[in-house]
Amino acid sequence: MAQRLHLRAEWVLPVGSPPIPDGEVIAEGAEIVEVRSRRMDGSPTNGVRDLGQAVVMPGLVNVHAHVEYTILRGLLDGLPFFEWIRALTALKSRCETDDWIASATVGAAEAVASGTTTIADCTDSGAALDGLLALGARGLVYQEAFGIGEDVPVDEAIHDLKARVAELARRAEPGLHRVGISPHSPYTVRPALLRSIATYADEDGLPICIHAAESHVEVELLRRGTGTIADSLAARGIAWHPPGSSVVTYLHDLGLLSSRTLLVHGVQVSASDRAIIAQSGAAWAHCPRSNARLGVGVAPLRWMRTCGRPGPPRVGLGTDSVVSAGTMDMFEEMRFALMIQRALGRNPAKPSAGDVLEMATIGGARALGMEHSIGSLREGALADIVAISVRDRRYSPMHDPVQAVVFAGNARDVMMTVIAGTPVYEKGRLAGHGLRAAHSRLRRATAKVRSLPEPGA
Ligand SMILES: [Zn+2]
Repeated sequence: MAQRLHLRAEWVLPVGSPPIPDGEVIAEGAEIVEVRSRRMDGSPTNGVRDLGQAVVMPGLVNVHAHVEYTILRGLLDGLPFFEWIRALTALKSRCETDDWIASATVGAAEAVASGTTTIADCTDSGAALDGLLALGARGLVYQEAFGIGEDVPVDEAIHDLKARVAELARRAEPGLHRVGISPHSPYTVRPALLRSIATYADEDGLPICIHAAESHVEVELLRRGTGTIADSLAARGIAWHPPGSSVVTYLHDLGLLSSRTLLVHGVQVSASDRAIIAQSGAAWAHCPRSNARLGVGVAPLRWMRTCGRPGPPRVGLGTDSVVSAGTMDMFEEMRFALMIQRALGRNPAKPSAGDVLEMATIGGARALGMEHSIGSLREGALADIVAISVRDRRYSPMHDPVQAVVFAGNARDVMMTVIAGTPVYEKGRLAGHGLRAAHSRLRRATAKVRSLPEPGA
């Protein structure tokens, strides 16, 4: 018989349907079978987990992260965008495979313990999958690809990429993990390689994720072939012919945009990009804290949420790596997304608390093409559930659970994280494996990274 999980709480927040005071969520095996008000008919209460002063809601969906970069948290603050990227790349060369695995495991642990049940992660080393496997977390793992110079021929690069994707697919847990590809960005992957990756993704029906329209130096490189990135390419003897277009147009012309594409950042978009996004069905990952910390600007969230095809917006929230966001905390991400948009837009109503909660749950699921299985609590959905304790006085009084979660929600108040019907985090304890070893390896590896001078220092 399938494992049964019967949760009860003062509030159930299904997302997509109204909050239920004194509600219950029942799962059998990996699926939710019922979301309802508490029955007062004297039905048996054995097996019911009454969480009391808590909000039970869908597990959070983080649509953009790099859990393997946890080891680099706290480094590189204050650098201009492209110098930051180059310094990050230099630091990466100091880590070995086991360092990446430890780093990804600790990053995934932070995510799960803070209520995230699905992570869409771009990974160079492939260690993101090890992190997800160790924690029992759901995820879409994008194998990253780089190659702005011509030192590796396109055929060889694609061959290597296919081998790495096949290896991830072999190790992934069916039903829990999907594998995609992430050509890193327009300024780190040359056009011929981007085009071949698009063909490969089309042939195999693979999801694509790409950092796009993040910084003004990226736009300058594409529009005019000038600026710090262009200077760096020239210094390295790499030929670059600017397409003279917007980033979105450029990626569209290379065949990279479709409903399987997730575009990350979108800070520097132009009005003419709207039709391309609508036509292609590409989705957005909005990473407001990363954008702010790196000083690249504020993405036009309202534009993103209205530029897609007819229907609900395909925009999710992502933390990006902790090197730029600081933490994997999706509550912080929701709150920051709301605050900065309202401040900038001088609009006290938009986005609403419900808007950002939606982006952190069902909106993220839509962006990943997973809205039929995750992102809301309803019968037939996968039982990815989080319970947040609202006992702290910060939540009092509790008029509205959406307001409470968005304006007072805190990763430390997560009391339970359930993935596919199995509690993977409860009462401060993670059920994953290899966590202690990962922490000690990370500590040793961190000391190793820190003992060396920072690039450019
Ligand atoms: Zn990223």
